[in-house]
Amino acid sequence: MIKNSNLKEYNEYIAEKVKFFREKTLKNKKKYGKEQLNQPIAFWIKKDRLINEIGKQFTIILRTKGCSWSLGETGGCTMCGYVNDANIDDVDQSQVINQFNYAINTKISEIEKDHDNYILKIFNSGSFFDEKEITEDVRRTIYERIAKIENIKEFVIESRLEYITTESLSEIKEFLKEKYVEIAIGLETVNDYIRNNYINKGFLFEDFKEVYKECKEYNIGVKAYLLFKPPFLNEQAAIDDCVNSIRKLIELEINTISINPLNIQKGTLVEYLWYQNRYRPPWYYSLFKCLKKSLTQKDLDKVRILSDPSGAGTRRGIHNCLKRECENSAKLLLKNFVLSQNLSELEQNRFECDCKRKYQLQKNYC
Ligand code: SF4
Ligand SMILES: [Zn+2]
Repeated sequence: MIKNSNLKEYNEYIAEKVKFFREKTLKNKKKYGKEQLNQPIAFWIKKDRLINEIGKQFTIILRTKGCSWSLGETGGCTMCGYVNDANIDDVDQSQVINQFNYAINTKISEIEKDHDNYILKIFNSGSFFDEKEITEDVRRTIYERIAKIENIKEFVIESRLEYITTESLSEIKEFLKEKYVEIAIGLETVNDYIRNNYINKGFLFEDFKEVYKECKEYNIGVKAYLLFKPPFLNEQAAIDDCVNSIRKLIELEINTISINPLNIQKGTLVEYLWYQNRYRPPWYYSLFKCLKKSLTQKDLDKVRILSDPSGAGTRRGIHNCLKRECENSAKLLLKNFVLSQNLSELEQNRFECDCKRKYQLQKNYC
């Protein structure tokens, strides 16, 4: 487990700014009723890339108290608006179980009848292993139920580094030895300066590597989230940063990399910069460039590359010129690449838009 002293790795000036916006959001926040706390924020089934095949994801988003990093002294990450969906007050743990059961009970027959294999993703917009959000008893109940569902071959949860302990790793393995378990960690970039000064993440790449090693010892996979185009980087710098991160993670033999193009979430420092025209979400062109520059087909035999951008094709998400044809073709290109893990898919663009010229001109400036 990483030492708490490492969590001092953040920029106090940025933390103050982030906290200011966070407090404003919290002041205007409405309370959730009993019914809302007994049902998950959302859950869905859709096509997805599994480790070795195309299958389906069953995703459940649980509502908990919220991310401790976000509710604490540093105010959380500069782009993260998850606190909008969090309860802030403690959520009774029986309600967390009710949320999980509600989603499972609604979808179980569909999953059991399906010929496809499934990856189950349980997200709580914070850390699955943080006792303040989900207690050990609840985690165990969840594992027990999942272990019995045969079609679910893979299981993914998210956690900040500081909650990934030998206990949490051995516990998950004890219950789910038959499944491929992966822990998703918001590394965002391998660059410590960008991570801690522009994103306010509060840990070092060294810390990540330590936890990664521990996960390997337990035969648990790691999925690293990379934030594509953090604030204060232009398009070219974003490409360079992400290429560098992908290469370093492949050297580490990471299991999965999920590239998250930044989307503008409500009540965040990044939203403020965006309103002031000091930030633009990334162009699709940049993401494709980054993928082509950083990956070879051989790499894709060893690492799974995912990217399922939120708000894609809108002003708040990754976008090109917002013309429907241009956005849809870019979206399709990315989706086909992720499902197939075949780089040649990125060459299949049927729609050449004239916005590419504007992009070329802008890429070094904003
Ligand atoms: S990005 Fe993750 S660690 Fe950062 S504030 Fe949001 S939930 Fe917490
Ligand atoms: Zn276009």
